[in-house]
Amino acid sequence: MTQSAYDLIVIGEGISGLTCAGHAARAGLRVATFESTLFGGLVINVNELDGYSEGGHKSGTDLASGLMQSNSEAGVKSIQEGVGTVSAAGGSFEVASDTGRYQARSVVIASGARLRKLGIPGEAEFEGRGVSSCADCDGPMYQNEDVVVVGGGDSALQEALVLAHYCRSVKLIHRGNAFRARAHLVEQARASPKISTSWNTTVEAILGGKMVEKVRIKRAGDGRTEEIACAGVFAYIGLEPSAGFAPAGIARDARGHLVTNKDGETPIAGIWAIGAVRAGYSGLLRDAVPEARRVAEAIRDRLD
Ligand code: NAP
Repeated sequence: MTQSAYDLIVIGEGISGLTCAGHAARAGLRVATFESTLFGGLVINVNELDGYSEGGHKSGTDLASGLMQSNSEAGVKSIQEGVGTVSAAGGSFEVASDTGRYQARSVVIASGARLRKLGIPGEAEFEGRGVSSCADCDGPMYQNEDVVVVGGGDSALQEALVLAHYCRSVKLIHRGNAFRARAHLVEQARASPKISTSWNTTVEAILGGKMVEKVRIKRAGDGRTEEIACAGVFAYIGLEPSAGFAPAGIARDARGHLVTNKDGETPIAGIWAIGAVRAGYSGLLRDAVPEARRVAEAIRDRLD
């Protein structure tokens, strides 16, 4: 069954999608957002927003809830369904969800990204029993325990710092010999007496009984393996874009992100991509929010 027509359908209720949708609705467009899980995206798991102060929101939940509220007041229709396909249909677009088909004059893909998995033995088996991907949510369960964090980017260091509030020790296990995280996070991690780092090291397996008890690590230099006792394993090894439903006519980069022009528009005129699903995204809210607004304004100007 074909349902209502919109000026704009935004796929994804993360910060980018919600910002774009609200901005477009306040500019007079009829807007719907689609979300298959919980609104807010990955930022919902962040208790203390780092480097983003607009609106005075302290946590990711505050920021996302505020956007949902203001979008609702601006008339954005929030549709809790996953999107299966987006296709061109006679000068506009058809967005097919799990249960319906929706018409839109333009589409913004803001479906974000998921945390990448290590893909090692024990990771799936111990999910929720020592393997976690949310330091803010699960950190309090590891009071005075030893945990490991895998990765060397902003996420790994930020989450290690969160875990250091609760845990006895946090061991960063990094395959490289230098962090790629921003300097202030590196400095804070270095200054924490609870955080130590194993360089040039990978995790081969997560081991335990009922719960995680240890990890087996391998050092690149001499190939030696070693078992390290720990109660928790948190992997932050980057993101993989959620773009499976996007039309094949939109090119992907080597990691699967959607390629757009500098304005965020894909080669299919009228379909845009913003935030973590887009190739070249900086990962910073202070970039994502203005980008989402700029795209909303470009769409409004186009539809005038
Ligand atoms: P990232 O920057 O891609 O870093 C991933 C890290 O994991 C790298 O250190 C990488 O090692 C390592 N890695 C990748 N694959 C691995 C594997 N299979 N096994 C072991 N290690 C592996 O990812 P991220 O830290 O999640 O950050 C994603 C984006 O979000 C970035 O743009 C970041 O700036 C942004 N972000 C921003 C904030 C903030 O604003 N506060 C917070 C978190 C994230 P190599 O270094 O050797 O490649």
